[in-house]
Amino acid sequence: MRYLPSPRVLLILLFLPTSVLVGCGTTTNLVTGETQRGAYTWAEEVQIGTEADQQITAQYGLYDDAGLTAYVDQLGQAVLETSAYGDPNTPAEVRNTPFYFRVLDSPVVNAFALPGGYIYVTRGLLAHLDNEAQLAVVLGHEIGHVLARHASRRAASAQLGQFGLLGAAVLGGVLGGGDVAQGILDYGSTGVGLLFLKYSRNDEREADRAGVAYAEFAGYDAAEAARFFRSLQRIGEQAGASGIPNFLSTHPNPSEREQTIPELAAQYDTGTAVNTAQLLAQLEGVVLGDDPRQGYTEDGTFFHPELRFKFDIPSGWQVQNQPTAVTMGEPNGNAVLEFTFAQENTPQAAANAFTGQEGINVSQQGSLTINGNRAYRVAGSANTQNGQVGFIATFIAFGGTVYRFMGLTAANALSTYSNTFDNAQRSFARLTESRYLNRSPVRIDVVEANRSATFSSFLSGRPSPPGLDENGLAILNQVDLNSQISSGAPLKLPGN
Ligand SMILES: [Zn+2]
Repeated sequence: MRYLPSPRVLLILLFLPTSVLVGCGTTTNLVTGETQRGAYTWAEEVQIGTEADQQITAQYGLYDDAGLTAYVDQLGQAVLETSAYGDPNTPAEVRNTPFYFRVLDSPVVNAFALPGGYIYVTRGLLAHLDNEAQLAVVLGHEIGHVLARHASRRAASAQLGQFGLLGAAVLGGVLGGGDVAQGILDYGSTGVGLLFLKYSRNDEREADRAGVAYAEFAGYDAAEAARFFRSLQRIGEQAGASGIPNFLSTHPNPSEREQTIPELAAQYDTGTAVNTAQLLAQLEGVVLGDDPRQGYTEDGTFFHPELRFKFDIPSGWQVQNQPTAVTMGEPNGNAVLEFTFAQENTPQAAANAFTGQEGINVSQQGSLTINGNRAYRVAGSANTQNGQVGFIATFIAFGGTVYRFMGLTAANALSTYSNTFDNAQRSFARLTESRYLNRSPVRIDVVEANRSATFSSFLSGRPSPPGLDENGLAILNQVDLNSQISSGAPLKLPGN
C-alpha cells in the first residue's frame, strides 16, 4: 500500500462502458491477417487501453527505475518493429499508435496487455528472467495479444455488448460468482485485469507463435523462453496453496509451452542472440520479493513503515497488499476486511459520503477513539445483485489522512464476523518500534559463482527477501536448490 488515492479511476471504469457503446463488427487480426469478429474498432480499443492504463498504473504502481523502464521499452519497441506494426501495408491508424511498455512495481510474476498498445511486465517477472531473449518472447507474446485484438474478439464472442469490456470485468469482479467476499478479493487483486485472465487457449497459442516469431525476427534465440515457462510452472505448483493469482492464470498450461516454444523457435534460423549479461546488468539492484516500505505482514500484524501505522490481521486470513488497499480474506472467502484511503477530510465526512450511496442502509453509527485516533463507525447493510451484504466500516483519522477499514460479509453472517471486524479495526495504531520502521527491501545482487557448488550453498549468509523462500529463489534463477552451479556462472542472489 502506498499513498496513491485515485477516486477518478473508478469513475472512468464505471462510465467508460457507456461512452464506448459498441456494435459487433469485423476487424483484422494483425497477427494472422484474418478477418475476425471484434467488439471494437481500433480507435475504440486505443481509447479503452488509454483509460484503463490509468487504473492499472494506479492499482499496481510503476516501478521507480528509469533505466530499467527505458531498457524494457527499447526492447519492446524493437520486437514490435518486426511485427505487422512495422509493415507499411498495415493500416496507418495502427502504425501511428504508440505502444507503451511499462514496468509495474509488483513482486507477482505477471505480464499482460491492454487493447490499443499497453503492455506491462512486473518487476517480479523481470527478476525471474535469465536473459534478454526470454524477455523478447514475453513482450512479443503480449504484442501478439494486442495486434491479434484478442480482447476485442473475446468481448464480441462473450456478447458483452453494451456492458463493455471493462464494465463486464469490473462487474464480474465485484458482483460475480454469488460469493461476495471472493468477488471483492478478485476485484482487489486484479481489477480490470480480470478480463485479461480469460483469453482462450487458442488465443494463447496464437500469442505464443507471434512472440516466438517476433523475437526471432528481432535476432533472439526464442527457444530460451522454454526455461522461463518451466519457472512459471514451478511457481504455479508452489503457489497452489496460497491461491495468489499469477502469470499462470493469464497464460494457462506452461508445461505445454515448455515443449512447444522450442518447436516453434526451430522453424526460424534468424535468431541467435541470448544476451544474458545485458539483462542481468539491468536487474542489478532491483527490489526482490515484497517491498517492506509499502507495507508487510509479520506475526499476524500488518506494518506500514512509511505511513507509520499497524493493525492486526485476523488469524489465518490471507492478505493482499496493493498500492491503494490492503485486503484480508477469510480462508473460505466468507468475509473480507478492506483497509483503504478515504477521500474526505474527517472520519464523519467520509462516513457520510459512504452511507450517502444508493442502496446502503445504516443500522448503527457513532464516533469513537481508536488508540488515540479520532474515528467514526457505521454498521449496516447494502443491496447488491447477489443479495444483502452486511458491513462494519470504521473511518480513522491518522497522520493527515482518513482511512476506511471495512468488514464485509453476507448480511446474515454479520453477527458471526462482527467481533473479528471489530478487533481488527480497533487494533489500528501508530507504529513506533524502530525494528518495524527501519525495514529496507532486499535487492538483486548479480554475482558470478566463485566456486562450483549447489545453488543452495550460495544462499547462506544472504538476507531472506520477504515473500520469497529458498525454493522461490532457485526458481528465480531457473535452477533447483540442489543444482550444481559451475564456477563463473551468473547468479541472482538476495543482497542489500
Ligand atoms: Zn497471453
